[in-house]
Amino acid sequence: MSTESPHVLEVRRLTVSYHGSVAVDDVTLQVRRGEILALLGPSGSGKSTLLSTVAGFLPPTRGEVWLDGRLVASEEQAEPPERRDVAVVFQSYALWPHLSALDTVAYPIRRRGSTRRTARREALDILDRLRIGHLADRRPAELSGGEQQRVGLARALARQASVYLFDEPTAHLDTHVRGVFLDEMVVRREASGAGGLYATHDAEEALGLADRVALLNAGRLVQLGTPQQVYAEPADVWAARLTGPASVLDVAVTDAGGGRCTVDLQGQLITVEGPAATVQHRSVPLLVRPGWARLGGELRGRLRAVSFRGPHSDYLVETPAGEVLIREVGPPRHAAEDDVAWTLTRAWPLGGEPGRLADEGVAG
Ligand code: ADP
Repeated sequence: MSTESPHVLEVRRLTVSYHGSVAVDDVTLQVRRGEILALLGPSGSGKSTLLSTVAGFLPPTRGEVWLDGRLVASEEQAEPPERRDVAVVFQSYALWPHLSALDTVAYPIRRRGSTRRTARREALDILDRLRIGHLADRRPAELSGGEQQRVGLARALARQASVYLFDEPTAHLDTHVRGVFLDEMVVRREASGAGGLYATHDAEEALGLADRVALLNAGRLVQLGTPQQVYAEPADVWAARLTGPASVLDVAVTDAGGGRCTVDLQGQLITVEGPAATVQHRSVPLLVRPGWARLGGELRGRLRAVSFRGPHSDYLVETPAGEVLIREVGPPRHAAEDDVAWTLTRAWPLGGEPGRLADEGVAG
C-alpha cells in the first residue's frame, strides 16, 4: 500500500440512490491509516449501502470514493470490487459451497503469493484463534450458521487489505470470538496501518471499539467525532438518544461560556460543566447522561422506578422539568415513590451549538 495519503479511505459528497430513492445523502468522511471508524445508525440509515459502494458492489449516484489516495469510483466510472484493496465482512458470508473452511481461509493467503503449505498453516492458525480449527475440513453445508460466520471472519482477516469493511459482523458472535476478532483487528491495523469502516446499530459496540464514530440518520451524516465527543456532546436530541441512555430536560439556560453553563432548574440556578454557545434565557433541551446526576443535593423529585442492575442501580426520578435517569454504583438506596433530593454534575444543552461535523475539537 502506498504511504502518501494519510487516509486509507475517503468518501467525498457521496450520494447513492436506488431507483431515485436516496439511501446515502451527500456524505463526506475519511478513514485514517490505522483507524477504525464506526458508522452508527438505526436500521435503514444507509450503512450497508455506504459499505457496498466503497466495496464496489454499487456505483455512486453522485460523489467520489478514494482508496489510499486513488479515485476508485465516481459518477463517471467505478472500478470493480476485485480491483479494490478492501476486505469485506458482510452479514451474509457468501462462502463457496465446494471449499472446506481451511481452503476458504487459505485462498486469499495463496493469492498473496504464499506457498500452499504456508497458506494452510496461516489459515489453520486463524481458524484456531477463532476456535474452529477442529472444523477445518468441513464445507459450509456441514457448519452451523455461527460457524459459517466465523469462517467468513477468518477469510476476511486472512486478506491483507488496506481497508476492512464490516457490516455488523459481531451481531451474533459469542463474547469470546468477538473479543478474539476485535484483538485481531487491533494487531492488524497496528502492524500494517490498515483502516476499518465498521457499521453497527449498537452504540455500546461503536463507542467501545472505534477511534471515531459517524452518526447516520436517513442517509445523512449527523455528527462525526471521537466516542467521547459524540457521547458527551451530541449534536441534537436524536444523536443523544442514539449514542446512549439520555434524559432530556426542558430548562432555561441563563448563562453560558468558558466551559460552564448555568441553568434554571426548578427555580434553582445550577452551574455545571457543559459549554454551549446557546442563546441565553431560552428554553433548551438539556441532556443528562445517567452518570451526570446523583442523588442528594438541592433539587427535588420523586422516584418513579428503581432497578437493581448488579454493579449499579438505576433511579428514574420524576421532576417538573422531565424525567431523569440517575445511575449509581451499589444496590438501591431508595424505593419507588420515595421523595428524593438530587443534583446535576454535568449537562449538555442540545440544539444550541450545531454538532461538530468535522475533525475539529478534542483529539479529532
Ligand atoms: P442499513 O444498513 O443502515 O440498515 P441500508 O443501506 O440497508 O441501511 O438501507 C438504506 C435505505 O435504502 C433503506 O431505506 C432501504 O430500504 C433502502 N434500500 C436498501 N437496499 C435497497 C435495494 N436493493 N433497493 C431499494 N432500496 C434499498
